Amino acid sequence: MAADKEAPARRAPIDLDARAFRAAGHALVDQIADYLERLPGLPVTRGESPRAVRNALGRGSLPEQGRPMDELLAEVTPLLVEHSLHNGHPRFWGYITSSANPAGALADLLAAAVNPNLGRWDIAPIASEIEAQTVRWLAELVGYPADCGGILTSGGNMANFLAFVAARRAQASWDIRREGLYGEPRKLAAYVSADAHTWVDKAADVSGLGSDAVRWVSTDRQQRMRPDDLATLIRSDRRAGLLPFLVVGTAGTTGTGAIDPLPELAELARRERLWFHVDGAYGAPAATLPEAPAELRGLALADSLALDPHKWLYAPLEAACCLVRDPQALPDAFSFQPSYYKLDRRADDGRPGINYYQYGMQNSRGFRALKVWLGLRQTGRRGIARMIGEDIALARRLYELTAEHPDLEARSHSLSITTFRYQPRELSGHGEALAPYLNELNERLLDELQRSGRAFVSNAVVAGDYLLRACIVNFRSSAADIDALPGIVCEIGEALDARLRPAALR
Ligand SMILES: *Cc1c(COP(=O)(O)O)cnc(C)c1O
Repeated sequence: MAADKEAPARRAPIDLDARAFRAAGHALVDQIADYLERLPGLPVTRGESPRAVRNALGRGSLPEQGRPMDELLAEVTPLLVEHSLHNGHPRFWGYITSSANPAGALADLLAAAVNPNLGRWDIAPIASEIEAQTVRWLAELVGYPADCGGILTSGGNMANFLAFVAARRAQASWDIRREGLYGEPRKLAAYVSADAHTWVDKAADVSGLGSDAVRWVSTDRQQRMRPDDLATLIRSDRRAGLLPFLVVGTAGTTGTGAIDPLPELAELARRERLWFHVDGAYGAPAATLPEAPAELRGLALADSLALDPHKWLYAPLEAACCLVRDPQALPDAFSFQPSYYKLDRRADDGRPGINYYQYGMQNSRGFRALKVWLGLRQTGRRGIARMIGEDIALARRLYELTAEHPDLEARSHSLSITTFRYQPRELSGHGEALAPYLNELNERLLDELQRSGRAFVSNAVVAGDYLLRACIVNFRSSAADIDALPGIVCEIGEALDARLRPAALR
């Protein structure tokens, strides 16, 4: 090519120059601020059918021509606001999904703009250090040894999964990373409470152990794992030729917020020389409270710990964290050295930077640490403790309201989860036919309540009873929001009961 020919400027259809970005960005931020302001007045959800949502979206095929971004943003914000379930609403208490910290949205915008790739330190220097600091601060927050290792993951499932694989590698006496499960005829076994989350099944399945490797330990009346049953099961499994390797305690079960007796489980695992993992996806942040339940002190004794900043630290999705007591445990389980990555041979006076691709499953990794790190700095430990304490107090308030109410039955309160059900007062004496009817009534009630958009709770099934379940991980909820719930539940319940009650119960 002739050297004197002027190089043509390139205008990529995907680029926004600074002026266009500023205009679109300012408009978007205004729309988001309006949304946050209007949120308490919106229905939690419009309860639309999949067909209605698809119609709103339109069924056009892939556009051939592009369109200006300011036009698109003006369309997409209302589309999301009108057809979303708003888990940031002050009356959203379903599952374990928190209101998202608004600063987290700004952090995600900034993270995407700089777009560091946290697979390797040398291509994400400050971002990698921020992730390492975030990991350390999360450990400090919950009382875990701060010289631990760790990595941020997409969610609690992935955080638990990494710990599971690290435990498997650390406990295997053969080279399990090369030989896999073929290196040992005995089958590995992991122990977990009957009320634990389904991640254990997935981890056992995809890591090749098979879901039979998960040994479910019975729970007491408060849904906590029974250490005596755990000990018995391990003993009989060893006798039967299994190879126990892992005990999983849960700090806050998904259903009722139960906390397993972690210190006892830690001691048992130590005696049996098993890896002790704690699933604190939901409950671990409660350890920061001065009045935290005593069992949470057991977090500090775990070989590994999973926790979810996108649950009770109010980070926007997705952000979770896997901590390991021995910092080498993650690279021991996950690192391979590919030829296309050069080693960083820089001699430094401190520790080398972390290449996070060696710490987990992901290679290219986004900067999810930023929103968590900014959130921790925005509130400090005190702000977090205050919000968590208030969430727990609101859950207790709901428990007390339902206990006092003649048409409601309070069932449990642990951490920020309260379970209860609708039981019209004149139905209390009826035997046999009552239990199935109450289950049906409460299931239908939940359905209507959720679709009404007036408030949103989910359900738990405990000892065969279908219960309504409110999980308050919501810094926007107030006492007035909680106080409204019993009335809404009873209003819907009464109308349903009038329609559905079988003759035998009249
Ligand atoms: C929510 C939860 C998980 C799964 O976490 P995700 O972030 O949804 O992947 C695992 N364990 C417990 C106890 C949970 O509450």
